Amino acid sequence: MSCGRLLHLAMAMLLPFAVADASAEGRHDPTPKSGSASTIDSPESATPADTSKPTAIEGDRRSDQLCRITEDLYVREVSEGVIVITHSFPWAANSLIVEMGDSSLVLVDTPYTPEATRDLLEWVAVRFGERTITAINTGYHYDNLGGNSYLIEQGIPVYGSRMTARLLHERGEAMREATLKWLEAPKHQRYREAHVTLPYVPPTQLFDLEEGLELEFGNESVQVYFPGPSHSPDNVVVYFPGRKVLFGGCMILGWDGVGNTSDADLDTWPAAVCDLRRFECDLIVPGHGDRLDPGLLEHTIQMLAQHQE
Ligand SMILES: [Zn+2]
Repeated sequence: MSCGRLLHLAMAMLLPFAVADASAEGRHDPTPKSGSASTIDSPESATPADTSKPTAIEGDRRSDQLCRITEDLYVREVSEGVIVITHSFPWAANSLIVEMGDSSLVLVDTPYTPEATRDLLEWVAVRFGERTITAINTGYHYDNLGGNSYLIEQGIPVYGSRMTARLLHERGEAMREATLKWLEAPKHQRYREAHVTLPYVPPTQLFDLEEGLELEFGNESVQVYFPGPSHSPDNVVVYFPGRKVLFGGCMILGWDGVGNTSDADLDTWPAAVCDLRRFECDLIVPGHGDRLDPGLLEHTIQMLAQHQE
């Protein structure tokens, strides 16, 4: 992957701005108290608490691996064949691609929209050539599966839990309603319009949450594991033992704060995070935020403890 120096500079300047802009709206309550079936990460939850400082990308050695696909879609190849994708729409959310032993690709979660997912796969085709792709959704929120319709159109199998499919069906429209409220300001019109028509399409290959899932790709496996209710009732994590990479999704907090807890189980969340210590990790990918170090487990526990005080 090669992106010009100029692009890096543009990114470093653009990304913090986009983040600050997205989080400037303070109208809604980022942590609705309870009962609401509307359940995604609010703008605050999806962005660093201090938006005035540049994100970790600027001045970070990782900036060398940063590549911009479109105005709001970025990829970072953090090690050979391990790519973190960030879509800011307008809240920055991560997904992950890992190249497996048999040269196929595993995509964990999707960008927010089918359009951005198409843009990502077009980039993937240039970066890798023609490859078999398998997708996994880590939960029913649209920052996990908003791109499913495009994946399915392309014949890509999408794995997810039965509970994810059920919650999407039961709570999807309430989630849409809450989101449209967050995006009422005229400057968010483009995002609002996308969310009005965003297709909520469940995964196609369903598994039981409690049983989890193990998929084999040549000499490498992928483990999908449910550590208990956390950020949402259905948040699973995806572990790549051959790479020591864990995609924690939204239950792992990559910024300072816990965000929207309307869908969370605050009693079981800390234990669920502790349970992830079972995985030997060099890299942990949170649902939101730039940090990728294994210290994110302790950081998440700390953030949850502060929130409970
Ligand atoms: Zn999220």
